[in-house]
Amino acid sequence: MKSGLNPVGIFGGTFDPIHFGHLRLAQEVAEHCGLEAVHIIPAGKPPHRNEPVCDPALRMEMVRIASTGNPLFFPDDREIAKKTPCYSVETLEELRKEWGNDKPVCLMVGADAFLGLASWHEWRRLFDLAHVLVAQRPGFDIESRMTDPLRSEYRSRLSGDREKLRHLPSGLIMTMEITPLDISSSMIRDCLEKGHSPRYLLPEEVLVYIRKHGLYQEKNGF
Ligand code: ATP
Repeated sequence: MKSGLNPVGIFGGTFDPIHFGHLRLAQEVAEHCGLEAVHIIPAGKPPHRNEPVCDPALRMEMVRIASTGNPLFFPDDREIAKKTPCYSVETLEELRKEWGNDKPVCLMVGADAFLGLASWHEWRRLFDLAHVLVAQRPGFDIESRMTDPLRSEYRSRLSGDREKLRHLPSGLIMTMEITPLDISSSMIRDCLEKGHSPRYLLPEEVLVYIRKHGLYQEKNGF
């Protein structure tokens, strides 16, 4: 039997700002699945949601700061320069060209993001390009919330065998429980807008950067 290749993780998001919920997801999923690295890729212009509050370059810098010192994390700026919406299939195609067709590639998502997968651009093609690893976020029971056609893809692709990730380049869905941390970027933005401290929800160094650049503050000048 072939020894297989180490899978690599791709973790996209708005990261407006990055917080401990994101970082624990990346860390725990990487350890659980034996990923050799996690590329953390902030979206320039996310197609599924409102315009982010912070510019892409600032969100990228916060991802860099939060990743410092973690040998597993690779802040990846390939999406931030794009002026058009960033589709995951296009990013994955680009990565496939760099890494070849045999490399196991794993798209990492929280359960809430996974439930919206069928609305992503050319979503079925994601499975030709990557495995999908779903981290259970607090308050989300994916089985009961899923509707067709996502449910049928889920049922046919679901696997509990982590070894398979090393031997197939793409196509499986795997779910895993991670430490529940009910933190969101919007909660942090709200905190800052109200003049409260989001301390202990995100790395201190990221908060220092936020304060230094006056990000997410009340814009009315009082
Ligand atoms: P916002 O509050 O602005 O909507 P968010 O905190 O949900 O942002 P995103 O950048 O939209 O963060 O999320 C990127 C990815 O991280 C998604 O796959 C999402 O499911 C996951 N994620 C975000 N927060 C958590 C958390 N606390 N626990 C687990 N996964 C999370």
